[in-house]
Amino acid sequence: MPQPKPRKIRFYGAKDIDQLPQLQQLSPANRMAMKAVAQVLPFRANNYVVEELIDWENLPDDPIFRLTFPQGEMLSAEHLDKLVWYLNHSAPEDLHQVVSAIRSQLNPHPAGQVEYNVPTLNGDSLPGIQHKYPETVLIFPTAGQTCHAYCTFCFRWPQFVGMDSIKFATRESGLFQEYLRQHKEVTDVLITGGDPMTMKARHLSLYIEPLLGSGFEHIQTIRIGTKSVAYWPYRFVTDEDADDVLRLFEKVTLAGKHLAIMGHYDHWKEMDTEIAQEAIKRIRSTGAQIRTQAPLMRGINDSKEVWIRMWREQVRLGCVPYYMFMERDTGAKHYFEVPIIQAWEIFQEAIQKVSGLARTVRGPVMSALPGKVLVDGVAEIFGEKVFVLSFLQGRDPNWCKRPFFARYDDKATWLTQLTPALGEKEFFYDKQLEKILNKVR
Ligand SMILES: *Cc1c(COP(=O)(O)O)cnc(C)c1O
Ligand code: SF4
Repeated sequence: MPQPKPRKIRFYGAKDIDQLPQLQQLSPANRMAMKAVAQVLPFRANNYVVEELIDWENLPDDPIFRLTFPQGEMLSAEHLDKLVWYLNHSAPEDLHQVVSAIRSQLNPHPAGQVEYNVPTLNGDSLPGIQHKYPETVLIFPTAGQTCHAYCTFCFRWPQFVGMDSIKFATRESGLFQEYLRQHKEVTDVLITGGDPMTMKARHLSLYIEPLLGSGFEHIQTIRIGTKSVAYWPYRFVTDEDADDVLRLFEKVTLAGKHLAIMGHYDHWKEMDTEIAQEAIKRIRSTGAQIRTQAPLMRGINDSKEVWIRMWREQVRLGCVPYYMFMERDTGAKHYFEVPIIQAWEIFQEAIQKVSGLARTVRGPVMSALPGKVLVDGVAEIFGEKVFVLSFLQGRDPNWCKRPFFARYDDKATWLTQLTPALGEKEFFYDKQLEKILNKVR
């Protein structure tokens, strides 16, 4: 492609809903509802998403519009009415209280993320780190707790603060290194957020470069979880420090470690622009691998056609499809959720249409309290219809790859709604899970 023109990012938030010309086609009541939802769930879009990704002729069904712009039905009618009333009538402090009350009802911290996954270092807990499975540690750099745009379904929504202090980042990264020095069982570091690629290259390198030196020989893979490849591909092409980012990536691969960019793509439209494809090309030129993942969302990507085209396109561009997730039990879950059976059908129908190189993808997967549970399929055992499930990751690693069975339920959307099949009283891991959780508590 010709040398792409640099683009300056411009954010849109709740206060722009009345001004954005593209939204004028919606009714005032509709816009009011969007504003109300944006009080509770964070809303942020940017000029690239608005100008290149959303097809404004296709409202309200456009998948990228639904992915980034709040929709009235994301909240219950009761909550929505209340918010609209307070927005119209009352003092900001009262609105603030109503907003907090509604937020706390939306399960902001699903699957025991805070209670059970935060490790300790020399007796103190390390809030920016999660260590659930022995071989992989997650780090959430404080400066990376924001994104280039926000997904309407996001389960990370309580943590969006965004704070940019090099002093803090250095200290945080120091504690993280100390933790890794003490945990030789760890092979993978996953830098996540928010989106760590919202950080400047020099901040990001504070978390990455030290791991290339001595004392960290046990770290073989560094993963970066990011949506920037979809929401702001300029990050890797024309942003001021885009070349610094690529040089940092190169350093990792030259040091003999694997760098995996875990790209979050919800729809093939996000890989369709020249700039998105250029970003992929530039990332891959550093020796980094791009693996892709996304949740399955009603109204955004709940059709096999979307996944077939997305996985094919990913393989063509040299990316490796990795996970299809189930929507988590948080935020506006009721609005986006897809029943387990429907998710499995979409997966099963899509996977048979792609070559083996795209069948690296695992799904549908529930990242739940006991572990990452894969829906293998539906079977009939002695006349009883069951879901066949298994762990990809478990709080006890020994749970992996042991098939287990839940009663077939065409409405269930999450593991917690399933019950054991074949006359069992509990799932095989239940007792042990209780023990593990008690130990942490
Ligand atoms: C998914 C996940 C990982 C990584 O698991 P892989 O199977 O290696 O992809 C690590 N920690 C947590 C908490 C996770 O949810
Ligand atoms: S990019 Fe990831 S962390 Fe950011 S809003 Fe979307 S789902 Fe949430």
